[in-house]
Amino acid sequence: MPKTPVNPFKSLATDVLLTGMTWLCAIYLSTVESASAAQFGEPKFRQLEEILPTPNHYRTASGAPGEAYWQQRADYEIEVELDDEQQRIIGSETIHYTNNSPDALDYLWVQIDPNLFAKDSEGHITELAPDMSNLNFRSLRGILEREQFDGKARIHAVRDSAGADLDHQVVKTMMRIDLPFPLQPGKSFRFSIDWSYNIVDAQLIRARSGYEFFPEDGNFIYEMAQWFPRMASYTDDRGWQHKQFIGSGEFTLEFGDYQVAITVPDDHVVTATGELQNGDEVLTAEQRNRLKKARESETPLFIITPEEAKANESTQATGKKTWVFKAGNVRDFAFASSRKFIWDAMGHQSGKNKVLAMSFYPNEAEPLWSKYSTHAVVHTMDVYSKFSFDYPYPVAISVNGPVGGMEYPMICFNAPRPLPDGTYWGVPKSREQWMHSKYGLISVVIHEVGHNYFPMIVNSDERQWTWMDEGLNTFLQYLAEQEWEEEYPANRGEPKDMISYMTSSSQVPIMSNSESILQFGNNAYGKPATALNILRETILGRELFDFAFRTYSQRWMFKRPQPADLFRSLEDASGIDLDWFWRGWFYSTDHVDLAITSVTEYRMDTLDPVVDNDRRKQERDEEAKTISEIRNQNLKRLVDRFPELIDFYNDYDPLDVLDDEKKESEEKLAELAPEDRDLLKLERHFYVVDIENIGGLVMPVILEIEYFNGNKETRTYPAEIWRRHSDKITKLLITREPIRSLRLDPHLQTADSDTSNNVYPPEIGKSHFKLTQDKEDKNPMQKAGLGDAAEEDDDASESEKD
Ligand SMILES: [Zn+2]
Repeated sequence: MPKTPVNPFKSLATDVLLTGMTWLCAIYLSTVESASAAQFGEPKFRQLEEILPTPNHYRTASGAPGEAYWQQRADYEIEVELDDEQQRIIGSETIHYTNNSPDALDYLWVQIDPNLFAKDSEGHITELAPDMSNLNFRSLRGILEREQFDGKARIHAVRDSAGADLDHQVVKTMMRIDLPFPLQPGKSFRFSIDWSYNIVDAQLIRARSGYEFFPEDGNFIYEMAQWFPRMASYTDDRGWQHKQFIGSGEFTLEFGDYQVAITVPDDHVVTATGELQNGDEVLTAEQRNRLKKARESETPLFIITPEEAKANESTQATGKKTWVFKAGNVRDFAFASSRKFIWDAMGHQSGKNKVLAMSFYPNEAEPLWSKYSTHAVVHTMDVYSKFSFDYPYPVAISVNGPVGGMEYPMICFNAPRPLPDGTYWGVPKSREQWMHSKYGLISVVIHEVGHNYFPMIVNSDERQWTWMDEGLNTFLQYLAEQEWEEEYPANRGEPKDMISYMTSSSQVPIMSNSESILQFGNNAYGKPATALNILRETILGRELFDFAFRTYSQRWMFKRPQPADLFRSLEDASGIDLDWFWRGWFYSTDHVDLAITSVTEYRMDTLDPVVDNDRRKQERDEEAKTISEIRNQNLKRLVDRFPELIDFYNDYDPLDVLDDEKKESEEKLAELAPEDRDLLKLERHFYVVDIENIGGLVMPVILEIEYFNGNKETRTYPAEIWRRHSDKITKLLITREPIRSLRLDPHLQTADSDTSNNVYPPEIGKSHFKLTQDKEDKNPMQKAGLGDAAEEDDDASESEKD
């Protein structure tokens, strides 16, 4: 370390001069600030009231449900048959709909989701062309299958409880049922619907439900969802949510109780949302016995072993069996059925609730599934409950089949399984590898089981806002992955992983309708998850964030929050104004790029002219010489020849202190109050740091200071440092030791997109290059065997014949 540190900062001449005028000037300046800025505030810090809905009796200004909060209720009794010969659903349901709203309803809207797979569906005919230059066999087979497949639901009957037909009209994926008389507030209406439709081949057509056919053994796995007409939701802030099902925006649903009887070939195994009611009829004594043991087990036990499942594959159904399930307080119902299922289960205690965690999968899913699936189900409940609320349902189920990853109450569908030879990838690098990878499987099970919390219980409007469930769920998925194993290869959650998206073109804000989102996964999953992670680690801190997030989760359990309810709840419970954060991260496409543009060190004069001027002389000596000054050093000058031309001013240095000046300054010092004289002896270093906001998104300034003695210190300034000027700020640092360098965001907390401008003084960047070998294609003459090398090859092959 040099004795006199080399000063890395500019402008040594700009010393601090203490004067008595400072406060007066400041007061004067503050009165001439522009009126508009004072009135509205810097745009990035403007409060959100101008954007958020006005609070009311249903939703309060603090983000909680209001005293008059209401939601509708829909209870279902369903009988459904799965036709394994023709891959069809034939169903009959009775819906008991309760109008808890203050409004009389003339008609009801019901969702007919299979119509997404009608030949002329909006989702299908508005599909844009695929990348024709990059089409594989599978995707072309899928496109051709979609052209010919007809999945439109046939509505056979819509009747009231007396059996009288009800007028109804199907409008694409919705159906309006006209009521014989308006349904008054507080009243219920019972009606039934009979329907049928063809199940989609989910391996060829991308779907959240469907079948997979196994040509080797001639069996199917069915993962059934959106399979029955479901009540559209009617809400205080939107009325009927009957925005058509086009493909991206998922489902907005009402809570209710379900009783579902599922008839399948008698050698199928069925799993579903809810608890099995007739195990005595559909399970063997052995299976019931194993289930009982599994409930108490801390590791998964087989209910159906791989060998038993293998044997089942070659049986033939002799008849039909009906499996009956009941589920309370759920917003949907899904099931899976196959004769190929292995079944394992283990118990889990979530607070006071006893839960049975289960997995269903074919032998093709081994050895991955028996090792990881059920453990991942339990791990998810463990971690998510810590951050929100106890898992309230009796079962939690993961099923392997054709659907990539999709969530329903208590049950979810997850596709990854090993390659046919039983090997698999670790960390997947492509969609194809993901389908056959360990971490692809663990992460998707965590994610889909996690959806039980958001949106299956915290029931956000998925048709409108994808991020409200996907973003929150991806954030908790990241936390669960961190608790799975050290250095878990999570691909979403860390701020640095969001930078390339946030600096990319063709983006829309997170607050965009589901169907209009560009770069879907980054927009609705990655960015909101990262935003929440930053709130937790950097803006609020873990303690405040966890309390606020739990408050939001518990306030909206089994209720329907809107974005404003989340924004307001997190502020309400944390005590921190986050309007700037929601504005920047959720309503804009700005990115983060803060830069240190300059640093100036200020030195305080001692007011002793001898000391001060000696320092100035030293600084003057250190100043760079011009090229002419250097070359003229040995120049013969006129005064050398005529010394009589030299006078007082030739020797006089303006920085010399004359006797009179010395006396004058001593008198001035003597007039100073003792505390002011002490201040002049203060041994501190003053630095003014200029920081620019290049990316537009305001963020806390996290500044690591490295001193010349090797010590480091981090000073953190909240984002409010930008509240008056969001593009450029200056900050005064007062230190005891001289500073060697400064670095913004040393622990990569803020998704700062360009870290090269975070360091002052700038550093030389590091990269590397690799030499590649030139390879030339064979020309047609060479391929035709006309080159010299070809002749040699011929010779060689002839000699081999010998
Ligand atoms: Zn999801």
